Amino acid sequence: MTHETLDAGATLPAEAIDAIERAATAAHPHEELFSARAANIKQSAVRDVFDISMQPGLVSLAGGNPYLQSLPLDQLGQTAARIIAEEGMTALQYGGGQGTEELREQICTIMAAEGITDARPENIVITAGSQSAQDVATKVFCNPGDVVLVENPTYVGALNTFEAYQVQVEPVEMDDDGLVPELLEARIAALQAEGKNIKFLYTIPNFNNPSGITLAENRRQRIVNICRAANIIVLEDNPYGLLRFDGHPIAPMRAANPDDVIYLGSFSKIFAPGLRIGWALVPAHLQRRFYLASEAVTLCPPPLNQMLVSAYLREYDWQGQIDTYRTLYSERCQALLSALDEYMPAGLSWTRPDGGFFVWVTLPDGVDTYPLLGKAIDAGVVFIPGAAFSPADGPSNKLRLAFSAVPPDTIAEGVRRLAPVLAEAIEA
Ligand code: PMP
Repeated sequence: MTHETLDAGATLPAEAIDAIERAATAAHPHEELFSARAANIKQSAVRDVFDISMQPGLVSLAGGNPYLQSLPLDQLGQTAARIIAEEGMTALQYGGGQGTEELREQICTIMAAEGITDARPENIVITAGSQSAQDVATKVFCNPGDVVLVENPTYVGALNTFEAYQVQVEPVEMDDDGLVPELLEARIAALQAEGKNIKFLYTIPNFNNPSGITLAENRRQRIVNICRAANIIVLEDNPYGLLRFDGHPIAPMRAANPDDVIYLGSFSKIFAPGLRIGWALVPAHLQRRFYLASEAVTLCPPPLNQMLVSAYLREYDWQGQIDTYRTLYSERCQALLSALDEYMPAGLSWTRPDGGFFVWVTLPDGVDTYPLLGKAIDAGVVFIPGAAFSPADGPSNKLRLAFSAVPPDTIAEGVRRLAPVLAEAIEA
């Protein structure tokens, strides 16, 4: 697909989605060589929308990309050059599998800002983004057929990981206050009565991707208690926690529960995702297993990138940068909510997040948002249909809008383009 065809507003984008699907499902001679687990990774055209959404002329409310333009790029370039010139023998060499001690100590300070005050550097494993930590956790705990509990909806990248390990993913419903403890408890009881091995609950308590919903403070301990009673680990994924628009952070579940929670953090949203630096804070009794499993994948997290992150935390006003991001994302979220209020037809509802990158829109029952994607692309706007965020991948009357990477005016234009597509679907 060329840029010209898109700029001309042709119907090609919808065809392009079909072409991606056809290429992925076509028979080929190596098919029978696939492992069962690779075959289990589902192809979904929705996940390829990210590529299409980068085309000029389209307003992309699809990708949850951080807005990096406000980073001090010139100075960071000088810092990177200095690290290579002065410490190149370390920066370009293999490093320790757990990550550098300096960065692990700095990560303790970052987590303290959210209420985890007892973290020790030796219990941290630095990973290639928190995506890699999700993979390691699944590898450490899950055999094929084991159960992982997730919020419904949940992060598509985590679903991809779980599918690759042939795990049975069981979604538990949320309400406006996040995961519902009673439903979690009932689901655990039912699954354990069936003899299922439930290994962990994967949860994104702050500004959930895709829904933007935050787990209420008064539910957090209750959820850990329910999991502890059933001998299930909590995998708490918190890449957005510091990006709260107003007020103070709610303490992570890990804060009061060091033995029951594996906590995942990341520099992707508070600094830069291209460095691929995230971390896991692991209970002391699981640390060795987790670290060895991580080392078996990557040998070591990239030393140069870790040193650049360390220098950034040491030499720059990283907290000021987070404040800049918070203000910026808050303005963009407000622009999106105002545009939805102004343009959207009656019959729709949406979440009002307190932080993060995403708003989750609900259409009337019976409307499937997946077939609307091609029409939206033709109208010049991209979103992610709700089906992508549920293990069932069935029809969904939801869609995700990301406001992080798009300036306020463009957000409003995107919603203006989307509104008639949704209005038509509701009337049909
Ligand atoms: N968890 C969640 C909830 C996310 O939204 C993302 C990225 N979009 C990740 C993990 C992966 O982050 P990283 O870049 O640290 O791998």
